[in-house]
Amino acid sequence: MYKELTFYYGAMGCGKTRKLLGTRYSKIEDGFSVAIMKPQIDKKGGDYILSRENDKVKVDFLIKDKDNIYLEISKYLTKKNLDFILVDEAQFLKKKHIDELASVVDILGISVICYGLRTDFKGELFEGSKRLFEISDNICEIERQCSCGRKKMFNMRLVNGKPVFLGEQVAIDGVDASYEAKCRYCYNREFKENDD
Ligand SMILES: [Zn+2]
Repeated sequence: MYKELTFYYGAMGCGKTRKLLGTRYSKIEDGFSVAIMKPQIDKKGGDYILSRENDKVKVDFLIKDKDNIYLEISKYLTKKNLDFILVDEAQFLKKKHIDELASVVDILGISVICYGLRTDFKGELFEGSKRLFEISDNICEIERQCSCGRKKMFNMRLVNGKPVFLGEQVAIDGVDASYEAKCRYCYNREFKENDD
């Protein structure tokens, strides 16, 4: 079986975490050992991954900016075996983390499946997503439809229920702000309406 680095991307609320949890269940059912990883910056749920349906699973690896994922996994493998690593909110990882995940695939022989956003609330690539687009073996979009019928692509940030287009790149959903996924057309319309 090929060992591959795979990136599933989509807008907010497109069901990435649901897909991650579903993959976890089926891989375990098929007899594989699976670990869950997420960046620590995603404060939502703490040590757990939460889907919108309130499924929750404990995270095995919480990654800080300075962590070396390759070394962490090498250490883990001295005690346990691992077939798959599923990474939630992969957009928040650093470029070097994605390169380390590629080494986990190529040198340690573990398949890595990342799930994350394509772009931030301004429509610009996140560091982790950018690197995943550059080096993944497989890139798959999880599509959802905007209420107008077009494809959801943008993650509009809402603070106190109002769209905002300025601010820091990271504001955690449900903690610091909320988000509404929109197609490019609807996002640009909101942007113009709020441009004063
Ligand atoms: Zn739309």
